[in-house]
Amino acid sequence: MAKIHELSENLSNQIAAGEVIERPASVVKELVENSIDAGASRIRVDFVDSGLKQIVVQDNGSGIAKDQIDLAFTRHATSKINNEHDLFNVATLGFRGEALASIAAVAHIEILTNTANGIGSRAVFSGGSKLTQEDGASAQGTKITVKDLFFNTPARLKYLRSPRTEMVKIVDIINRIALGYPQIALTLSNKGKVLLRTPGNGKLPQTVATVYGRHIAEKMVAIKNDDSDFQVAGLISKPELTRSTRNFISILLNGRYIRNFKLATAVMDGYGSKLTAKHYPIAIISIKVDPLLVDVNVHPTKQEVRLSKEKELGRLITSAVSAALIDKGQEIDALANL
Ligand code: ADP
Ligand code: MG
Repeated sequence: MAKIHELSENLSNQIAAGEVIERPASVVKELVENSIDAGASRIRVDFVDSGLKQIVVQDNGSGIAKDQIDLAFTRHATSKINNEHDLFNVATLGFRGEALASIAAVAHIEILTNTANGIGSRAVFSGGSKLTQEDGASAQGTKITVKDLFFNTPARLKYLRSPRTEMVKIVDIINRIALGYPQIALTLSNKGKVLLRTPGNGKLPQTVATVYGRHIAEKMVAIKNDDSDFQVAGLISKPELTRSTRNFISILLNGRYIRNFKLATAVMDGYGSKLTAKHYPIAIISIKVDPLLVDVNVHPTKQEVRLSKEKELGRLITSAVSAALIDKGQEIDALANL
């Protein structure tokens, strides 16, 4: 056996990147989540060639101060948590301080950023190292351009699916973020061609109409149910409107899109016999919960979480769904918001 030695920072960032940045859609997700955490009300995403050639994410959020840029690209450096207590009380989408360092380890990345009262900066990182930094962005906010993703990790490139599939994954993650944040005006374009533009007016039915189409939004029913731990609200499709996969059931926990088989099943249980085999509803279920009941520190991509009282939440969702399918009054409310 060779001697044990510590890996270089570059190499360990590349290893970490393997977990956080699996594909172009992961870059999109991490950058947009950063924009949301920065308080942006407008986010624009553009990608070229399924995101491998270029991904641009621009926001009007808080921006990063000139002297903080290096830290923003340092692994395990974050402005979002401070101590162990915060780790169990995460109110932001990010907290691991890994995304920018990981992306910079496996791509070329340029950042233009400005805070409310700064002069603004432009910096370029590549393959884990900073190449330049100078003064010079105007509007408040941040614009990040990621080029040639995985240029230095050929194995990862090989593992990617077809360009079409990678693009679908980008669209999918943006759709879910859009559904979780109707108050944010999100634009997704492919080489300038707009694929999605949400109004950002806070109205979920209108957001559903832009994501899935008006004909779908018109067949959705509002749901709502609270107990002392959880507040559940959202929109579900009428039983006659179904899809052939569970993929259209979006579960958002404190704004974070999560994968959770049991909660998706709880949605379906609410339909009871109204759903036939292999038919799945479209649903957007927003859950508000005290962050103390959620452990988001389970997986690097933060899409899996550990949830206390998951069974109770499942029952709350099931009864919200079944009540909404009986009570036609709420349906009229949902449409009034369109
Ligand atoms: P995390 O989001 O887990 O903190 P990141 O690597 O994604 O880690 O980002 C590091 C830090 O850079 C963030 O904590 C934040 O302070 C800053 N940052 C990243 N993106 C933005 C942005 N779009 N606007 C403002 N600040 C940002
Ligand atoms: Mg982040």
